[in-house]
Amino acid sequence: MKFQAIKGVRDILPPDSALWNRVEQAAREVFSTYGYGEIRLPIFESAELFARSVGIETDIVNKEIYLAVEPSLATHEKDRNQLLMENTEDAPNKDAARARIDFHIELTKAGVRSGAISQQDNELILQEFANLQKNGQLLAGADWVAYVRRAKDLLSKLCYLPQLSLRPEATASVVRAYIEHGMHTRPGNVKLYYMGPMFRGERPQKGRYRQFYQIGVELLGASDHPAIDAEVIEMLLAFFERIGLKGTALSINSIGDKQCRPKYVETLRAALREVKDKLGADSQRRIETNPLRVLDSKAPDERPIIEKLPRIAEHLCDGCRNHYAELKRQLALRGVSYTENWRLVRGLDYYMRTTFEVTATGLGSQDAVCGGGRYDGLVEQLGGPAGTKGIGFAIGTDRVILSLEHQAGDAKPPAAIEVYLAWMGAAAYPAAVALAQKMRRQGTAVELPAVEMRFGKSLNLADRLGAKYAVILGDDELASKQFTVKRLADGDQKKLSESDLLSYLLPRTQ
Ligand code: ATP
Ligand code: MG
Repeated sequence: MKFQAIKGVRDILPPDSALWNRVEQAAREVFSTYGYGEIRLPIFESAELFARSVGIETDIVNKEIYLAVEPSLATHEKDRNQLLMENTEDAPNKDAARARIDFHIELTKAGVRSGAISQQDNELILQEFANLQKNGQLLAGADWVAYVRRAKDLLSKLCYLPQLSLRPEATASVVRAYIEHGMHTRPGNVKLYYMGPMFRGERPQKGRYRQFYQIGVELLGASDHPAIDAEVIEMLLAFFERIGLKGTALSINSIGDKQCRPKYVETLRAALREVKDKLGADSQRRIETNPLRVLDSKAPDERPIIEKLPRIAEHLCDGCRNHYAELKRQLALRGVSYTENWRLVRGLDYYMRTTFEVTATGLGSQDAVCGGGRYDGLVEQLGGPAGTKGIGFAIGTDRVILSLEHQAGDAKPPAAIEVYLAWMGAAAYPAAVALAQKMRRQGTAVELPAVEMRFGKSLNLADRLGAKYAVILGDDELASKQFTVKRLADGDQKKLSESDLLSYLLPRTQ
């Protein structure tokens, strides 16, 4: 049997991984200059968290979420099913059966509390169990047969199905962590960044994977001042500049708030119903489920129809209109150029007011490298302090890397090693080990062959590995304490003492 990675999932190998590291390192550096700290989040969470935040009507939760199996729950479910089949009505099995029923009740309570198993389905059943116990039937053991029948009936309805999911995005997790750790008591705005894999069961294609990577930022706090939004966007563009990503374009929009958006959505829905026949099946369905997403449609023949639809900008309430105007002023103040795109809506339920997207080149139709926006109600919606505001973005790292590679063309990534240390003769080996240690300590990347090779073969391998230099260490070098160093690009060769060699190879900071 030959194993292969799952469809839509990729390995990232060296030397390509070096570019990933460089991009991630740049994010750490740039974000920290704006006062952000890294949050490391779990890869899986209770499925309910995403249903409540991202929204059940979204593709992400509706179609694309990966459910994860909780191993202990699978075992317990088996035990429960077995218990249901056993004869527990006879007196000799009474105590054991009672203990097992109790165990499953306690287990379910704990599971519901921790969010590991579904709350909605189980809470009612647990309530009925509590009533059953209160009625005294269990404690008095008065009517065992009636009790055990009723208890088994309830047990059969308990839901042990896995209710964990691999995260499709991380904003929900950040907000969950913010609430769980009472981070609102920290001084000032809470500024966090994260990086790591996300999972969505989409159709794999270039720039769209089932395990993909995001670098994201969230700012949570009491204020929704547009200067905050503008600084977040400024920081995002500073990051793209730092990694040298060219051809980026920023689009912005305001999608209103709780006050004005619902009214606009109804206006839009009414207008869409009138042109329903001219739209494709996806858009037709979205008229009812999520009309804003129709604006986002990529179908070329729908474009002229969409152009004529009512626009949110004309339906913003005063609060949102002022917020948006101030955002634009704040962006201009920071020298950030943008285009306004009234069709820009985010796919997730929780966004409001400021939304933005950055596209890059060399990516074909999957050209969005970052999406972001404000989500002022989300903290409260997930049970956190009322009035907490939030804004953030998520960068699609895979696409950023693709775009950087496209930009670099055929330019080769830098080789992993700088020096190939070719040694010959048993006496030379200990000296080579010691020299390699000294070079590595000063930051030079060294390849030290484990077994002796002829110099010709060594130099050939050094060349194929992309090494910049070969250092030669044989009996002559050992006796004279002068090492031969050869620059492989042009064959330039010198003999240097150990200390001269080390400083010759010293990594230059620029
Ligand atoms: P798209 O419209 O491209 O599907 P999205 O609106 O679903 O993007 P978000 O959920 O806002 O994307 O995620 C932010 C960024 O993450 C996107 O701009 C994109 O760069 C990246 N991204 C999203 N889904 C994928 C995926 N399946 N594979 C690779 N990158 C992705
Ligand atoms: Mg998507």
